[in-house]
Amino acid sequence: MHIHGFERTLMDEISLRVHVIAGDRFAVLVDTAMIGYEDMITEALDFVRQCGVPLAFIVNTHAHHDHIGLNRWVQDQTGAKVLSHPWGSRWIADPDLNYQEFVLGFPDIIADTKALRQEVRGTLGPGVPLDMALTGGDFLYPGGLTLEIVETGGHVPGEIGILVREERALILGDAFTALNLPFFHGHVRPALYHRTLKRVRSLVEEGRVDTILSAHLPPWVGVGAILAAIEERQNDLDRLEAAILEMVAGGADTLRSVWQAVSQKWNKLPEFRGLAMISAHLDQLVMEGRIDREGIYYAMMP
Ligand SMILES: [Zn+2]
Repeated sequence: MHIHGFERTLMDEISLRVHVIAGDRFAVLVDTAMIGYEDMITEALDFVRQCGVPLAFIVNTHAHHDHIGLNRWVQDQTGAKVLSHPWGSRWIADPDLNYQEFVLGFPDIIADTKALRQEVRGTLGPGVPLDMALTGGDFLYPGGLTLEIVETGGHVPGEIGILVREERALILGDAFTALNLPFFHGHVRPALYHRTLKRVRSLVEEGRVDTILSAHLPPWVGVGAILAAIEERQNDLDRLEAAILEMVAGGADTLRSVWQAVSQKWNKLPEFRGLAMISAHLDQLVMEGRIDREGIYYAMMP
């Protein structure tokens, strides 16, 4: 096994995990967690040192705070280059912009608070420029291993997974979102999320993946477990879309009212991740001509 996970508890039953992939020539660190998790990252870097190879690359699966927060901290100690999907480059380079666009996208609905600032901005270390962009079909060769980059967008507009071919293991960030959190873990590109789930299903059906590792959830081991996880998420997407349509049909006519109604129905705390997700679904439904939009008001098509 050339993949080693390092984890801590983030909240009940949810972990924060990073992975080291160690080849004969160099190692790769997948994600750097965030401020407050320095001891976990130190463990990972100690492990790389024991392997006797340099840490050549940090690969960020996506540009959320809990995956990139210690990029600079790791880079200062190792000189590793930072690679990620090009979509995330602005957020990885600029923590203030990251906070602004991730959390405060709808300032008249969710305002800046000290608690939000602490949760997101406060866990981001200094930004770093992306040294190289990775997209689906790119490869890294750490020595004795073939790492294939897989597009896994949906949770964010641009996310990547790392397929360690020789292990038939796919390492994900948040591409398989957590469904049982007290808030919506969220996705901002519903159509892309569907395509990602289909893509991973194909990798499994072709016999190229039989284990999925991720940043927050327990591993999915075996074809049956992975296909069940995919189906669960496909159903979740469909149910969510149906709930949004039901709310609009029932008279919820603004982003705020649809978000509040859906959050209540699904027993989720109404917060910024869910708001961005509902907004994205409404955009998608408007694009598909299934609901109408005029200014800030939504209605069923006549
Ligand atoms: Zn995320």
